[in-house]
Amino acid sequence: MASEFDLIQRHFNRPTRQAVLGVGDDAALVQITPGMELAVSADMLVANTHFFADIDPWLIGWKSLAVNISDMAAMGALPRWATLAIALPQADEDWVKQFSAGFFACAEQFKVDLIGGDTTRGPLTISVQIMGEVPPGQSLLRSLAHVGDQIWVSGPLGDAALALAGLQQRYALTDQELAYCTSALHQPIPRVELGLGLRGLAHSALDISDGLLADLGHILARSNVGAELYLNRIPVSTTVSTHLQHDVVQQMVLSGGDDYELCFTARPENHNQIAALGQELGLPLHAIGHITRDQGLNVHGMDGTIMIIEENGFDHFA
Ligand code: ADP
Ligand code: MG
Repeated sequence: MASEFDLIQRHFNRPTRQAVLGVGDDAALVQITPGMELAVSADMLVANTHFFADIDPWLIGWKSLAVNISDMAAMGALPRWATLAIALPQADEDWVKQFSAGFFACAEQFKVDLIGGDTTRGPLTISVQIMGEVPPGQSLLRSLAHVGDQIWVSGPLGDAALALAGLQQRYALTDQELAYCTSALHQPIPRVELGLGLRGLAHSALDISDGLLADLGHILARSNVGAELYLNRIPVSTTVSTHLQHDVVQQMVLSGGDDYELCFTARPENHNQIAALGQELGLPLHAIGHITRDQGLNVHGMDGTIMIIEENGFDHFA
């Protein structure tokens, strides 16, 4: 059985690109780019709450870093460093090896250094802290939505929620549909380049982790504004659109979590520049509504009438 030290040495200690000192000492050392602000965030993944404990550990590794990088994207920050605190039920070397391969695949793709962490025995829990940089005053804050702003989202929504419903056999999908949606659920792609491109173009942004309505609700609450949203403008995949006549699937698009696309608001004058940014990144961006002075959130359904929304999103303590 591998010791804690062996596990760290073999699987979590890799040369860093941009840290002064990485794994191995009492603390890591990093040099912040002069004049930049440090953006810091943490996200924890608990087995069987945030992921199925028996799925491919590579995917768990990928996702645990990707959801953290997504928070940097949502701030308009460039992700740079991460730490990883992990509790493992046992020192299963094979599992750790695959987990770390997935984690580092994501780290490579987004040029993030793993600079430290902690490894301990316990129920499978993964806690990642991410640090990034953003020029002062350019962060995309939840509190900065303006009345009249257009509300935008990137990419298709609802795939991850549909996958979860399919995997839990709450909703019937073909094997092909399930395979497509499951990859959205298990391997989200953080929209880092979009976040960077939105500096100076968008007022506010966040990543959709708990569901569009719940997450947009945070922007509305922080900014003291309301919104009108149009369901038929929300981008969905072919798979979701095939099932969109069902109320439950409409709910997944509006309230399903785990998509990790960005939702942001920007003045209408920036519409063409934002559309051009989407083209340049090969990422569909869609204006799905606008910010209103009247507080509250109205969702216009497929037939144009205002929908009754029962559940806004996922709340661990609800
Ligand atoms: P300490 O006793 O000071 O907590 P540890 O023995 O826990 O030190 O860790 C030794 C080194 O390995 C430290 O640099 C720590 O940041 C790093 N480390 C421990 N676990 C991990 C991990 N899961 N991922 C990355 N680095 C880790
Ligand atoms: Mg320790």
